[in-house]
Amino acid sequence: MKPVAILGGGPAGATCAEGLAAAGMKVVVLDEKMAWEKPCGGGITHKAYRKYPYLLENDTPKQHITNTVLMAPKAGDAQLAMEHPLLIYSRYELNDMLLRRASAAGAQLEKTRVLEIERGDGDWRIRTKGGTIEASFCVVATGARNPLRQVGTEFTAEDTMCALGYYVEGTRERIDIQFLPQFEGYIWVFPRCGHLSVGICGKGVATPVLRQWLEEWMTKNGYQWQGQRFYAHLIPSLRSQALLENRVAGEGWLAVGDAAGLVDPITGEGLYYAIRSGDLASQILLNDAQAPGAKAEAYRQLLKADFLDDLYIASRLAHRFYTGNFVFGQVTDRMVQFVRRSETFRHLVRDLFSGAQPYTGLRERVWGNFRRSGWELVFPQEQAVPQEP
Ligand SMILES: Cc1cc2nc3c(=O)[nH]c(=O)nc-3n(C[C@H](O)[C@H](O)[C@H](O)COP(=O)(O)OP(=O)(O)OC[C@H]3O[C@@H](n4cnc5c(N)ncnc54)[C@H](O)[C@@H]3O)c2cc1C
Repeated sequence: MKPVAILGGGPAGATCAEGLAAAGMKVVVLDEKMAWEKPCGGGITHKAYRKYPYLLENDTPKQHITNTVLMAPKAGDAQLAMEHPLLIYSRYELNDMLLRRASAAGAQLEKTRVLEIERGDGDWRIRTKGGTIEASFCVVATGARNPLRQVGTEFTAEDTMCALGYYVEGTRERIDIQFLPQFEGYIWVFPRCGHLSVGICGKGVATPVLRQWLEEWMTKNGYQWQGQRFYAHLIPSLRSQALLENRVAGEGWLAVGDAAGLVDPITGEGLYYAIRSGDLASQILLNDAQAPGAKAEAYRQLLKADFLDDLYIASRLAHRFYTGNFVFGQVTDRMVQFVRRSETFRHLVRDLFSGAQPYTGLRERVWGNFRRSGWELVFPQEQAVPQEP
């Protein structure tokens, strides 16, 4: 029996490989780098480790962050205390842990670059830098820069966010998120083990301009960027129409994680969706009740039932969230003000960030809480943001 080939060994590919190998399936993971320090915040939400407790319960070094400060141009700062910490991993460490789990389950790991895939007689021929491999099925997990044109999401510039930043020296106990005027994106300061990641991601602005904005912001806020390690990558951020037309599966293949565009278009959270889609893809491949020809449609349906509808709502909200107006001000300004003044609203945003509040049902909760948070807005109990040294 030819193996299932997992093209890419990031969180999505490694998770899928683990699920298949643990059930006794022959699996080979092909990755050109294996574990590597991908430019990424490495933030794992409560939603992710509640579903996959091994993301929390392990010896791999990580930060547990419970404080976030939100900043918007006309609103100042607001502190958001999380009920459950956000875990922050180095991506080398996270990928390594997930690949070791796949290997321990029985998956074969091969460090090589996939150059081309070709379908014939119901199987795949995969040309790699090291030779040719035959496989019964392909799981496409090659990330947002998927070089294989015939499989996975067909990205356009409107469906990706550019992300870039610097690793700078320093430690701290909180995350900072800075919104900018009329910009679909944000600046972040993420405390990682031993250093900070300070970056910007967004849509519709040229990369050199984003870099300039970030460097100006860093200078103004006392972060040294000259001589620090620079990084840049892409984050999928599909518009609602692109999500409807998204190419996530076809004859003999399923795409997972970034290669399938499965990222929250508002927050840029992709690790949960990578791991979840890798898991769901393995469930589809292991289900003997489905004929091979029915797997693509079954996978689409499973994604939809699980989280795609939620990402669709987020894709409809994203542009308005960042650039729209609410009560005579920009939505992000208002959000920061409301978080500062209203405990009810603060809990809502906290739950949204941790994944406890899906986008489905958000509107109902906002309106349901409106009277209470309206009272708190009129008679606020302002909270002070503690100053970091
Ligand atoms: C700057 C930045 C910050 C982010 N911060 C966060 C965050 O804090 N939290 C969060 O949840 N998400 C975050 N994301 C998103 C997150 O990084 C991705 O959603 C996640 O890595 C997707 O996992 P994946 O396995 O699908 O793809 P990837 O992690 O990109 O893995 C793809 C793998 O495929 C391999 N590969 C690619 N092409 C080939 C080839 N031809 N042959 C062999 N191997 C190949 C690569 O080597 C790589 O290992 C961030 C993204 C960026 C860019």
